[in-house]
Amino acid sequence: MRHVAVIGSGPAGYYSAEALQKELGEDVRIDIIDRLPVPYGLIRFGVAPDHQSIKAVSRRYEKVALSDNVRFVGNVMVGRDISIPELMELYDAVILATGAPLDRPLELPGSDLPGVIGSAAFVGWYNGHPDFADLDPPLGAEAAAIIGNGNVALDVARILAKTRKEFEGSDIVAHALDALEQSRIRTIHILGRRGPHQIAMTPKELGELGHLEDAAPNVDPADFPPEGDDALLEPGMRKSVTHLRDFAASNAAKRKTINFDFFAMPVAIEGDGKVERVIVERTMLDAELRSVGTGERYAIDCGLVVSCIGYKTPPIEGVPYEHGRGRFANSEGVIQDGLYCVGWARRGPTGTIGTNRPDGFEVAEKIAARFRDGTSAKFGRAGLDALLEGRGVDIVTFRDWQKIEAAEAARARAGSPREKFTHIDEMLDARGGAAG
Ligand SMILES: Cc1cc2nc3c(=O)[nH]c(=O)nc-3n(C[C@H](O)[C@H](O)[C@H](O)COP(=O)(O)OP(=O)(O)OC[C@H]3O[C@@H](n4cnc5c(N)ncnc54)[C@H](O)[C@@H]3O)c2cc1C
Repeated sequence: MRHVAVIGSGPAGYYSAEALQKELGEDVRIDIIDRLPVPYGLIRFGVAPDHQSIKAVSRRYEKVALSDNVRFVGNVMVGRDISIPELMELYDAVILATGAPLDRPLELPGSDLPGVIGSAAFVGWYNGHPDFADLDPPLGAEAAAIIGNGNVALDVARILAKTRKEFEGSDIVAHALDALEQSRIRTIHILGRRGPHQIAMTPKELGELGHLEDAAPNVDPADFPPEGDDALLEPGMRKSVTHLRDFAASNAAKRKTINFDFFAMPVAIEGDGKVERVIVERTMLDAELRSVGTGERYAIDCGLVVSCIGYKTPPIEGVPYEHGRGRFANSEGVIQDGLYCVGWARRGPTGTIGTNRPDGFEVAEKIAARFRDGTSAKFGRAGLDALLEGRGVDIVTFRDWQKIEAAEAARARAGSPREKFTHIDEMLDARGGAAG
């Protein structure tokens, strides 16, 4: 019997467990360890609450989680409750699937002003992540600025723009729903340094903005290259640009506006004790399609800035780390003999949920090849349990998670699938049915 510890219960963690099962069958015991008492990483805390069909992928992970040779070990933080050398002592292989939960810093003058928030924090707030449940973002000004031209920027804009009714069927947490209903934001600026042909936004997410009850997207027609150039784009990108052209051609006027501010490079954030404006430099593209400043500056008044400019993996003591790219130093998923990484902790924060699947299979193949020689003398889960019990760590099992999930469903508002617990204590209490 071989023992493998997977650290992180997001997509990369579960795909790795699934791949190990396929490679090693009954000859492996897998412990999926997570710092939170609830599984699934960004499926629960990143994917937008109004995208329930995407969140439903967790049902597939549930199948893996319920198999006899896989165990969820929640509420255990690697680096705090147990170290990597200790795990490597106990398991034949350790896979880091810890994601990239830290916001890349917005390195601008004034970016430390209250009201400048990273997307990990903002998204975590509306999704009920315990680290950000008490964020209380300022929604009292007329305008907000979102920095970035990817799908996360679109998620944030859509969440700021939707009405209470439009969240029906979602699992947005009550504190965010109430705050958003009171929000005074009427203009949402999405700032991108380059133009419509350089976005990293997918057609489905862009198209949604054209169907909002109370908000209309707006693009300046002057920002587009000649229409004939669209033919050179790959099909997905062409569809996205078609949406932008439709937004530019539409004269729909609604209570709220989502402005796509292209060729707009934020250079400073200003305000007296809090965000009051973003200073932007107009840009143009050079021959290599990089943005270059034109020297022309203007101000966008706003009371909230959400930066959606990427994420990084938190380092763990003793694990080699690539600072520039914000991920573990690895060669095709191998950090060192017996220690591997997958998903965003391996590649950095790019790609969709499915992009993480091949990582799991690649690492599982490598682990299986390594296991072909010799047998295991490791203690695996018995050793982990003894060590954590000695440290007074309160482990959450998958059965406990199912009780938490049932308690969330039981207290759901009408029309929502669940009302998430947002604090670790509440989650732990719900195991006993106390909060149900
Ligand atoms: C805002 C946002 C929206 C997204 N929307 C979509 C979408 O609509 N569709 C789509 O396909 N993709 C979407 N993605 C991308 C998708 O979420 C990622 O591809 C995927 O979650 C990455 O998986 P992962 O397992 O590497 O990391 P994660 O999902 O982040 O999982 C990491 C896990 O590790 C745990 N962990 C971290 N550190 C430790 C530690 N020290 N000890 C123990 N546990 C630890 C965390 O608690 C977490 O559970 C979105 C991403 C973001 C940020």
